[in-house]
Amino acid sequence: MARVAFANVDKFYGPVQALSDVSLEIEDGEFVVFVGPSGCGKSTLLRSVAGLESISSGVIAIGDREVTHVAPSDRGVAMVFQSYALYPHMTVRANMEFGMKINGVAAAERSARVAEAARVLQLEDLLERRPAQLSGGQRQRVAIGRAIVKEPQVFLFDEPLSNLDAKLRVQMRVELEALHEQLGATMIYVTHDQVEAMTMADKIVVLNEGRVEQVGPPMDLYNAPASEFVAGFIGAPSMNFLSVALVPGGDGDHVTYGAVRIPLGRTLGLALGHDGPLRLGIRPEHLRLTEAGAGTLDVDVEVTEALGGETYLYSRTGEGDRLVIKADGDTALSPGHKIGLALDPKRLHLFGADGRSLLT
Ligand code: ADP
Ligand code: MG
Repeated sequence: MARVAFANVDKFYGPVQALSDVSLEIEDGEFVVFVGPSGCGKSTLLRSVAGLESISSGVIAIGDREVTHVAPSDRGVAMVFQSYALYPHMTVRANMEFGMKINGVAAAERSARVAEAARVLQLEDLLERRPAQLSGGQRQRVAIGRAIVKEPQVFLFDEPLSNLDAKLRVQMRVELEALHEQLGATMIYVTHDQVEAMTMADKIVVLNEGRVEQVGPPMDLYNAPASEFVAGFIGAPSMNFLSVALVPGGDGDHVTYGAVRIPLGRTLGLALGHDGPLRLGIRPEHLRLTEAGAGTLDVDVEVTEALGGETYLYSRTGEGDRLVIKADGDTALSPGHKIGLALDPKRLHLFGADGRSLLT
């Protein structure tokens, strides 16, 4: 097991800069998730740990060793891909043994490692099957088994669950978390799915256009997003944003949204209006329903989605902005209803013209 460190890593593909000045520390035994939209550089960063991509500048270390120019096979990492990448003509056992055979691991040791990985992954009854005789979830378990038998210092996962159906994805997510508990290994996991990031990570790294946008434990990113980008990416449905103006006051600042005055419950110490229009962020689950006229602002309900346990209300403000509200499952409101919304100042987020949070 080992820590992983990146210092000032840049990666160019011709004129395309895929990674910009990435500096990051991953602790020994940590489960770290790289998350962000498609094309933000997640796979490039992961593959640079494995040595499958050479970086343009900067330094990568695994454990106490700089590995920037070390061959992939000498880095002590094992990677699991979305596509499984199993040999179709080999049995499960042969697939798991193959890498060890290449590396000259003795037969008895190979058998012991396969037996142990098969036990951990509940593959014992499937060892003599070929990949075509397995379900998607079983194939992915074999791919993970092939990584385990390498006894790597660091496990690297690139969207390993994306090919599985929704129910199996949830099940495998829980299995991977249990595997991490059991092995205590350093794991780096790439996904575009913020739910996977929130549920699995000790530490989330949000990437945006090749840059590290924010690093922290899941609930820190949820409660205190450092930027509008992170705020909009973490949480579902996404945070609502309204363009507002800041009005400082003696007993606490407030923002104005059209004719509506919204107290912030604190003094920010910023100049009037700050530097341009600000963006107020409110999560759908932090909007509380009231009678029209009784809350901070009124909205018209346009669309309702009843999911059973909760109901999403798609509403519109008098200014024409859409606000999504996460309400109780038994909320009985039909399109056309006018409702009031109460806001808890402690739950509000505020972002400057540069997208950075003003409340942290
Ligand atoms: P992600 O995994 O977050 O979807 P990638 O790391 O695959 O993103 O890609 C980051 C950026 O680098 C994208 O703009 C992508 O088009 C570009 N890119 C990735 N691989 C290559 C390549 N082999 N050649 C050229 N551009 C690439
Ligand atoms: Mg990718």
